[in-house]
Amino acid sequence: MRRSVLGKSKIEYTDYYCNFYEGCEHGCIYCYSRMIKRKSYYEWINSKPILNAVDLLRQDIARLSEIPKDILVSSSTDPYQPKNDRLGLTRQVLQVLIDKGLPFSILTKSASVVHDLDLFENYPKCKVGFTIITLDNLVGLSAEPFASKISDRITVLRILKDRGVKTWLSVEPILPNLELSNPFDIVHKLGDYVDWFVFGRLNYAKAPKDYYRDMVPKLVDLCNSLGVKYLIKRELKDSI
Ligand code: SF4
Repeated sequence: MRRSVLGKSKIEYTDYYCNFYEGCEHGCIYCYSRMIKRKSYYEWINSKPILNAVDLLRQDIARLSEIPKDILVSSSTDPYQPKNDRLGLTRQVLQVLIDKGLPFSILTKSASVVHDLDLFENYPKCKVGFTIITLDNLVGLSAEPFASKISDRITVLRILKDRGVKTWLSVEPILPNLELSNPFDIVHKLGDYVDWFVFGRLNYAKAPKDYYRDMVPKLVDLCNSLGVKYLIKRELKDSI
């Protein structure tokens, strides 16, 4: 039985995480969380909500010894599971964070995040991000079979930006094949709608080091030339 949903994060761009689903219906073939938790694919996509997440979160917040700079919602699952459309659990969790005045960053692959737009546009301490590793719907469907179509994520990203919500994009993992996963095209096409990019590599597979070594300086040049704000994650930086 879970005793908490809020914890200290080791991810370099955030200091806390909030996870209130176990597993993830989106079923990405590259899912690092599934590998860390040693779940079979079918166990993983049969995700389960932490039904007392709101009570646990209130307890976790009461025990905090510091004010988080940022809470990533979520780090080891996606907060907008397809079943969340029915359960509405994420909205309840966000409402607690908002009531407590805590900053948070959403990270999702679901266009359903737009249903909580009213919360985001009235709360300046949040930013909303998508993972997008390709602009190709077919590649997206192959790699992230049960997540929202890439084009739907982009539509919602534009809506969020137009409505004044701070946005970010996680381009991770960049697959080591420019035809499948082209971060240059992503920056060119979406740069106007994204306040901050995070780039990360494929960590566990044998991605050719040379590939990232050649790519990263060019990516840095592109972002700088366009005035785009970005973070190159540590593991990706280490490969150059
Ligand atoms: S959305 Fe994230 S947590 Fe869910 S399967 Fe994909 S990589 Fe894993």
